Amino acid sequence: MRSVHHFISGKSVETASGRFGDIYNPNTGEVQAQVGLALDAEVDMAVESAKAALPGWMATNPQRRARILFKFKDLLEQNIDELAELLSSEHGKVVADSKGDVQRGIDVVEFACGIPHLQKGEYTEGAGPGIDVYSMRQPLGVCAGITPFNFPAMIPCWMFAVAVACGNTFVLKPSEKDPSVPVRLAELFLEAGAPEGVLNVVHGDKTSVDAILKHPDVKAVSFVGSSDIAQYVYATGTAHGKRVQAMGGAKNHGIIMPDCNMEQAVKDIVGAAYGSAGERCMALPVAVTVGKKTGDEFVERMLEAAQNLKVGISTDADAHYGPVVSAAHKAKVEDYIRMGVEEGADLRLDGRGHTLQGHENGFFVGPSLFDHVKPNMRSYKEEIFGPVLQVVRAETLEEAAALPSNHQYGNGVAIFTSDGRAAREFASQVNVGMVGINVPIPVPVSYHTFGGWKRSAFGDTNQHGPEGVRFWTKIKTVTQRWPEGDVGDQAFIIPTMQ
Ligand code: NAD
Repeated sequence: MRSVHHFISGKSVETASGRFGDIYNPNTGEVQAQVGLALDAEVDMAVESAKAALPGWMATNPQRRARILFKFKDLLEQNIDELAELLSSEHGKVVADSKGDVQRGIDVVEFACGIPHLQKGEYTEGAGPGIDVYSMRQPLGVCAGITPFNFPAMIPCWMFAVAVACGNTFVLKPSEKDPSVPVRLAELFLEAGAPEGVLNVVHGDKTSVDAILKHPDVKAVSFVGSSDIAQYVYATGTAHGKRVQAMGGAKNHGIIMPDCNMEQAVKDIVGAAYGSAGERCMALPVAVTVGKKTGDEFVERMLEAAQNLKVGISTDADAHYGPVVSAAHKAKVEDYIRMGVEEGADLRLDGRGHTLQGHENGFFVGPSLFDHVKPNMRSYKEEIFGPVLQVVRAETLEEAAALPSNHQYGNGVAIFTSDGRAAREFASQVNVGMVGINVPIPVPVSYHTFGGWKRSAFGDTNQHGPEGVRFWTKIKTVTQRWPEGDVGDQAFIIPTMQ
C-alpha cells in the first residue's frame, strides 16, 4: 500500500514512530494509503532542519526569494492538473473544485512574489536635528503552520508562501486525512530552487501539534481548523511565548431581501451551500429570508435547484459535488439532519442514506434543505460542514441582520439586495469579519486579508494580504544620528538626562 512520508531537509523521511493514519478514497470508502504520524523526535528533526536553513534564507535578499516564488508559481501552474487529481482522490471534492483550491494557492504565491515591495520599511529623514528614524520588518525565525483537510493546497499556501517570502523557514503539519498535496507543494518549492530545509512537512495528529506548540525554537504558529481546537492552539501556543493566529469554524448566513434578483440569488446560494459538499469555511449554510413572500419563493426555487444537483464521484465532470471526507464526517452530518428534524425544523429535502450505484460504500450525502429553522435550535447554532441548507424566516432586515451578528461564529456573511443603501448599512454594522454584497462566498483576493471574527478566529492578525506580512515579521525601529564633533548643543528630540 502507498505510504506518505514526512518531507524534511528536501528529502522524503519515513516515520520511525510506528504510528500510522489511514488515508481513504472517499468515493469508495476504501483505505488507499497510509501516512506516518510523527512523535516529538520527528517534529524536532523538522524544526532542526528549518533552523539550519534559517541564516542562509534570511540573508537571501528579497528579490532572490521572490524569484524562487515566481518559479514555484510557474511549477504549480504546470502541475495544476496532477495536483487537482491527487487532491480529489484523498479529499473527495470534484476535480474542478480541486483546481480552484490549487488556483487560490497560486494566487497567494503570486501575492508573495511582491515581497521586495511588501516588506519595505519606512523612513523619516530629520526626525530631529541630524536624526533619522527608520523601521524594518524582519523575519521571526522558524515558523509553523497546521492546516485542515478541506483546502489542502490553498491553506498551506496562505501560510508558508507568505512566511518564507518574509525570510522565515517553515514546518508545515497538514491534515492527516489528505496529506499528499502538501508534500507535492514542498517538492515543487524545492524544484523551484528553494534551499533544503526552508519548507519541511511533518505529518501527524494532536501529538505533533502539541510538539510544535511547545517547541522552544518555533516562533510563530498559524492554525486553521475547527474552533475548539483553534482555541486550544491559540491558548497553548501563546502560553509558550509564540505568536499565534488560529482560524476556526463558521456558520455563514445569506440574507435574502425582497428586492433581490431571486433567480441570481438562488443560483449563487445553491453553489455556496452545496458546492464541495458544504465542506468550506466560507460555505453559505444558512439563508435568512425577509418577509413571507420572499421566504416562500426562495424555498420553492431552492428546493427545485437542490433536487437537480448531481452528486457523483470526484472524477465525474458532470457532478456538482462529491463525497464528504470520511465515514465519521458523513455520520456527523446525518446526525445533524436527524437533530434538525427532532428540533422541529421542516425538512423539505433529505440527503441521508444517499448511495451511488457502484460506489455503495462511498461517503456520499445528498443535498438537504430545512425550512423554518429557529435560532434556538442546536442544529442552527453549531457548524454542520455538510451539504445542508437551513432557511430561517425573518420579518425585517433588522431581525435578519441580528442573526449573523449574534451567532457564535463570524467568518462570512452575504446580503442579496438591489438596495445600495441597505447593503452599505448592513456591511458597516454586521458583527462578522467578511461580507459579500450580492456575492455568496466573499473570500477576499490574496492581496486583501482573510479572517473572521468571534469564534471563527483567535488572535488579531489575519491570513495573507498586508496582515499576513505583518504576522510573519517583527518590526524594528532604528533612530540614528551621525554627529560631527561636540554634540553638546545638538538638542535631542526625546528627554535625556540633560
Ligand atoms: P480539525 O480541527 O479537525 O483539524 C485541523 C488540524 O488540527 C489538523 O491538522 C489536525 O491534525 C489537527 N488536530 C486535530 N485534532 C487535534 C487536537 N485534538 N489537538 C490539536 N490538533 C488537532 O479541522 P478539520 O476537520 O480538518 O477542518 C474543518 C474545520 O476547519 C471546520 O471547522 C472549518 O470551518 C474549519 N476551517 C476554517 C477556516 C477559516 O479560515 N476560518 C478555513 C478552512 C477550514
